[in-house]
This record gives sequence, C-alpha cells and structure tokens, in this order.
Amino acid sequence: MIITTQINQQRLWRTIHELGKIGAGSNDAEGVTRLALSLEDLEARQYIIELMEESGLDVRVDVVGNIIGKLEGKDKFAPVVMTGSHVDTVYQGGLFDGALGVLGAIEAVRSIKESGIELSHSIEVVSFTDEEGTRFGTGYIGSKAMTGYLDQATLQLKDANGITYQEAFKQAGFDSKQYKQAIRKPEELKAYLEMHIEQGKVLEEHELAVGVVTNIQGPVWLEVTLNGYPDHAGATPMNMRKDASLAMAEVMLEVERISTTYQGVGTVGKIHVEPGGVNVIPGRAVFSIDLRHGDKELRTKMMEEVTTAVKKIGEQREIGAEIDMKKAVDPAICSESIVHILEESCDELDIPTMKLPCGAGHDSLMMTKVTEMGMIFVRSKDGISHNPKEWTDQEDCVIGTQVLLQALVKLAK
Ligand SMILES: [Zn+2]
Repeated sequence: MIITTQINQQRLWRTIHELGKIGAGSNDAEGVTRLALSLEDLEARQYIIELMEESGLDVRVDVVGNIIGKLEGKDKFAPVVMTGSHVDTVYQGGLFDGALGVLGAIEAVRSIKESGIELSHSIEVVSFTDEEGTRFGTGYIGSKAMTGYLDQATLQLKDANGITYQEAFKQAGFDSKQYKQAIRKPEELKAYLEMHIEQGKVLEEHELAVGVVTNIQGPVWLEVTLNGYPDHAGATPMNMRKDASLAMAEVMLEVERISTTYQGVGTVGKIHVEPGGVNVIPGRAVFSIDLRHGDKELRTKMMEEVTTAVKKIGEQREIGAEIDMKKAVDPAICSESIVHILEESCDELDIPTMKLPCGAGHDSLMMTKVTEMGMIFVRSKDGISHNPKEWTDQEDCVIGTQVLLQALVKLAK
C-alpha cells in the first residue's frame, strides 16, 4: 500500500452535512433544493468560498460564478490540474450529487497542502455554476462558459417566473455579459478529474465502493408541443376528437421502443397538459424527451426516429406537432491515461474497483472539449439520486476522496 497522505475523514463528513443543511427543507419540501443562482445556491457558494479560504486555497470567482480555489504548484507556468463538480441541485435533491465532488476535492487538496507534499503543477478546485439545468432548462452553464460553449441565446432563456439567465446572474452579482472572460485555453489545463456519485446500481451490484468511468453518455433534450382541440369530454364522440394527450401517449411508447432497439435510454419525464380539466379533452400537450447513448451516431439515429414518429403521429391524428431541441451534449470518452492513473491509484491503496460507463451528464462532458478528462464514481445506495433518499456511506465518500487525492498527486507531481 502506497499512501501519499491520508484525508481527514471526519472533516469531509462534517462539510458534507454542513453544506447539506443549506437549502434543506426550503419551501417545506423534503430534501435539499438549491436551484442555480437562487438564495440557497448563493448561500452554498459562500460556504464553499469560506471553506476554500480556510483550506488555504487562493480563491477567485469568474464572471459566470464558477468558484475556483487554487493550490499553487512549484511551476507557475505549468498547465493546471483541475478537479471539482457543482453545488446546485434539482428540486428536492440529496446531500451528495455534485457536493461530494466539490467537498471531496477541497478535502483532498487541503490534505495535500497540510502534508507538505510538493507538486510541480497547480491544482484548481472548481465549483461550477448551474450544472443541473433545473431552473432554466439547460445545464452545464459554468463549464460551458469555461470551455467557450456558452452563447447569448442561452443567457436569454427564462425561468418559470420569466426571469432571464442574464437577469438572474445580475441579481446574484455576476456580469454574465462578459461571459467570454471565463474561457480557459487548452494549454492552461493539464487534466480535469471529477468525483461524483454513481447515480446507478452497478457498483452496489458489484459490492464496490468506487469505479473508474470509461465514457459518458451525452443527453439530448427535446421539447415536444402537440396542438389538438379542447372539446367537451361528454359531448364529443371518440372519432371526432383531437386529443393531444393520446398523441403524447403514443409518442411516449415510441420513445421506449426506439431507445430499447438502439440499446440507449429514453425518458419522458416532464409533461404538461392543457387546459387540465377532468371533463375537457386535452387540447395541448407539452413534454420533454431525454435521449442518451454512448455513441453519438446512434444517438442521432434515435433522435431522427423519434422526430419521424412525432410527425407521423401528429399527421395521423391531425394534431399539430412541433419539436424544439433544448440541449444536445456530445458523448465523451475518458482519457486513457487518466483511467490508467485511477486504476493504479486504487491498486496502490488496495481498493478493488471496476471500469464502467456513465449514464448521467456532468460538467466533465464539457471539460473534455478542452482537456484530458477522467471520472471517479462512488457507490450510491439503491442507485437513488435527485431525491431526498440519495445516500452514499461515509466510508465510500472517504475511499473515493482518498483515490481522488492519490490520482491528483500523480497528475500534478
Ligand atoms: Zn451532479
């Protein structure tokens, strides 16, 4: 066993619970809710800034609110090793999604600093703005800005209260008009390494605390609007209806069929039917489709088939059908050398592990556009996430963070 230095287990666990109190039970809801740029999110950011400062990192916040804490290496001009995740959450999320990656990274780098290990490369811990995309319907905002993929159109998107991204940034004290200033050039970065909870059951099934990610399935988000006619539910015979709900149900079954055929995954998770009366035929249905596949070409084929199905169902039922693409993130392959470093780190620490693909989207998807990327997965209890029941044992958080530390030392030495 080659241990460079041990992390502080209690400190890591304490910070996970301290951060988890922010946004807990807000609006009388269960779980943790810290939507991007909300008051809860801003409080969480303040907590992260203070924790980074207390850990001896040089902290700065960029124009779109990415918090960056730096441990300076001996060679100031060497490319930086970056690690982190996000602290925003979905509605009624849990303690670990995103938070573990940020707090684990702070703990690992703090332990490196305290142990006096000298590194050539600087390490930057980053807490990205709005990874989840819950509030404005599109995510990875901080990592998009950092990699040069944010645009004006995205900043004009509105939340449920009609507030644009740009206004929300302004209210939070950020000058998002200058978003291009957040861009980091490929030559500035050596690698990006993210630790995240698995959000699935594979590690649990294999009785492993940690896994090494090989690739990430990028999501495509479509929004479908079906326009029928809201007639009376009693006075309109079945053959005279233009029922948007029934058309939606057909599309949903097609999404299942197409996803199964391509061995990808497809989900209709958000539906809205108008006018929403018990005795009124639904005249309008608006719903989301989330499609994912590890292979970009096959994902494109899935999307094409879904689009054809929507049009065909609309024509057959004489219902207007529109499809709007809300988000498309390319699938990504993890860096072979980082996969190797992570396996080697587990080996040195006598931690059994396995390689696995990643089904969820992460900031690492964006970072792979500018640098070598790798991910460590930590076991999720029952595979539950985006839910108050989301759980990862203390021991697993500690093992994941210890592997992160080991790999960071190797990358930055
Ligand atoms: Zn996450």
